[in-house]
Amino acid sequence: MKDLFIDGHWVASVGAQPGRTVLNPYDASELATVAEADPADVDAAVTAARRAFDGGPWRTTCARERGELLRKLSGLLVRDREELARTESLDTGKTLAEGRTDVDDIVAVFRYYANLADADAGRVVDTGNPHAISRVVHEPVGVCALIAPWNYPLLQMSWKLAPALAAGNTTVIKPSEVTPLSTLHLVRLLEEAGLPDGVVNLVLGGGPTVGSAMVSHPGVDLVSFTGGLATGQKIMAAAALGVKRVALELGGKNPNVVFADADFDTAVDYALSAAFFHSGQVCSAGSRLIVQDTIHDAFVAELARRADAIRLGNGLDDATECGPLVSAEHRDKVERYIAQALAEGARLVAGGHRPHDPGLQNGYFLRPTVFADCDASLTVVREEVFGPVLTVERFRDENEAVQLANDTEYGLAGAVWTGDASVAQRVAGALRHGTVWINDYHPYLPQAEWGGFGKSGIGRELGPSGLDEYREAKHIYHNIRPEPMRWFAGPATGGDQ
Ligand code: NAD
Repeated sequence: MKDLFIDGHWVASVGAQPGRTVLNPYDASELATVAEADPADVDAAVTAARRAFDGGPWRTTCARERGELLRKLSGLLVRDREELARTESLDTGKTLAEGRTDVDDIVAVFRYYANLADADAGRVVDTGNPHAISRVVHEPVGVCALIAPWNYPLLQMSWKLAPALAAGNTTVIKPSEVTPLSTLHLVRLLEEAGLPDGVVNLVLGGGPTVGSAMVSHPGVDLVSFTGGLATGQKIMAAAALGVKRVALELGGKNPNVVFADADFDTAVDYALSAAFFHSGQVCSAGSRLIVQDTIHDAFVAELARRADAIRLGNGLDDATECGPLVSAEHRDKVERYIAQALAEGARLVAGGHRPHDPGLQNGYFLRPTVFADCDASLTVVREEVFGPVLTVERFRDENEAVQLANDTEYGLAGAVWTGDASVAQRVAGALRHGTVWINDYHPYLPQAEWGGFGKSGIGRELGPSGLDEYREAKHIYHNIRPEPMRWFAGPATGGDQ
């Protein structure tokens, strides 16, 4: 299995690990078997990236040319849109429509950073000295280890890879071992686009083996990771030993606050998509609904009715609204949260079980689940479930809404629904979350920063800051007419004092 891409060549692992089987979560059928790397492959990949950075042309290629290569890649992604969307749907279980949206967003991200690549020539700083010139310029950080999760396999990788390449870095990339297929396709497209050897190196395999070998490798300068909080903590600790740059995009427990004056039907509709889009396996999922008490009961009733009507099925089937969870192991974890919520006193008003449909028995499905009568003492309200589980809390006034919405160790995203623009602005300003939507949920833009307050992460992806993660700032001070300074005004020559 020549599935590793190292120094411009497709190679097999040098280790003796058996390949890893990739499953379709819709029916547990086998999609592919791919190579499993071992630390020696990681070493070869980092060595190739190091050589390409230190001696290769990429970092010194003019920024406009780097942008052009990314634009060419965008064109290839557009050409292969349908195949990529299908691969993502098969690998993750998401609907084909979601897969297509992912590819469109990926294209937009590569185009955005293609345009940004040569947009910054640094800045000139006033030295206060007519004989000196001072400039601040940006340079690539070096070899970047990019590690992605399984929920948006290609999208999350692209949020890292596009700015890393635009800035002139070289990379070793690792998709989640659960969903490697679309990233394999992307690397073939990078090869087709003419990326120089060693600039992108692909390794496949498990986190504790391959991922941790990437993080601790002395040849790596920067680690960018998207995934769970516990993994992020380990990565940050390991990277600290080498004082590596670290960017972390971690989980979320995202509040969706609905005031009584919001449009009722629209708010219910969005509460469903906020929580159950991609079966809730979204870092910014609106999994914590906080509803004003005067509309609470009617809201919960309508929410439960509509959650019960969500059509589960094969992501490739046009009629499907929601696919399965990504793996049996992940569904087990979500089911444990459901059992714990019941044990701790949450009131189940929708779902809470696997579907009864005989056609869905082999896949990792769970019915969209809604719990009412929740508060922050419940584990299911505090911890990220990362599945189709929505909890509902109630609030009386604006202060209480803000207090509840900020009562989380995370801080990735949140939303507020109201017909009153001043309430909307006040609440948006008070929320301690990296993205706040007003009367909407989920949209993000390549031009706008994405990332978390609190334990949702460190650093930002997307926007100009997303590029800055991959650049060092360097101050160059040029004294055009140097003369002796005479700070130390002793004799020009002389002996000991
Ligand atoms: P995960 O932490 O289990 O794995 C993510 C990646 O890290 C995988 O490639 C995995 O192989 C690798 N990994 C695991 N252990 C490692 C280690 N010790 N060293 C190095 N690499 C290691 O996360 P997941 O289950 O794949 O993804 C779900 C999580 O990702 C959720 O918590 C979700 O909120 C988060 N997420 C966050 C964002 C965001 O933008 N903030 C986006 C998507 C997903």
